[in-house]
Amino acid sequence: MILHIKNGVNRERIEAISKELNAFHIHYQGKEVLITASNVKEVPDSVANDVESYWVADSDIQLASKKYQQEKREIQLGNILIGGSTKNTVLIGGPCSVESEEQIRQSSELLKSLKLSVLRGGCYKPRTSPYSFQGMGKDGLKLLAKMREEYGLTVITEARDATHIDDIIEYSDIIQVGAKAMYDQGILRACAKTTKPVLIKRGFGTTLQEFVQASEFVLAGGNPNVVLCERGIRTFETKTRFTLDLCGVAWLQEYTNLPIILDPSHAIGHAYGVLPLARACVAMGVDGLLIEAHPNPKVAKSDASQQLNHQEFVNLKQELETVAKAVGYNLI
Ligand code: PEP
Ligand code: MN
Repeated sequence: MILHIKNGVNRERIEAISKELNAFHIHYQGKEVLITASNVKEVPDSVANDVESYWVADSDIQLASKKYQQEKREIQLGNILIGGSTKNTVLIGGPCSVESEEQIRQSSELLKSLKLSVLRGGCYKPRTSPYSFQGMGKDGLKLLAKMREEYGLTVITEARDATHIDDIIEYSDIIQVGAKAMYDQGILRACAKTTKPVLIKRGFGTTLQEFVQASEFVLAGGNPNVVLCERGIRTFETKTRFTLDLCGVAWLQEYTNLPIILDPSHAIGHAYGVLPLARACVAMGVDGLLIEAHPNPKVAKSDASQQLNHQEFVNLKQELETVAKAVGYNLI
């Protein structure tokens, strides 16, 4: 249950109620908000006089539910907005991993030349083998921050475990929680302690319920700026790397108030399919796309097979603009 406390109820009283109900306490849109487990279905008599309004939830999808807040959340990514009533589709581009200054500078130049503003690049890579390239770590973060300064870009990079969060908050504008990391409570709880936007990727074996509940850790912990990212789930199919769950996207659009970004690159795992899939994503009217592009994909240190080269990325942007326009969105 979500409870809005009446204006004028003092801090000590709110803390006492919060303790009594074993609730989270956040400030949201000018309100003192308490969130209990969803199995609480009635306001206890002992607190009825303190409560202005309340929402009974049918599951632990609560703050993210449209039943609580119908309007999509508006999220600021650097100097652009997505969600809310904006009808913006942000095109986030950049390599899978930051590999060198020269490489990430070329990615920054590409985005600048296309008037795009959000640069991606992993520095802590959650690889399936310990022998694969693990990312440049803090040196990579410093390169991203340098690009942010020099090119006025907004940067997004992923946390592989909770010990990276402080550095990522310092050097990056948006925190990415990867598909393998989204069950990590340490990361989710740490993301709740900042107000920087957090992009949570769906694990490849994660139900929609679990996916949205991961966002509740961040929302109920006090950070309202969460974006969901569908990046493909594992099915019986092996010809493509994963299966992009567009049905799931339709469900999220219908039932949650969180902006949604789609990642066709990781879903298909092969560059040939990224453009057609991206067209389908944009046609759904989504808040953003995450596309991997590399100056020379053949030599990429991670995800080489799916990264577009820069000419392919330029073409993709051009094609997606038309699709976005057709469904009433702006590609930015
Ligand atoms: C990535 O964005 O490079 C990445 C590792 O993605 P995912 O967590 O979706 O596998
Ligand atoms: Mn990748």
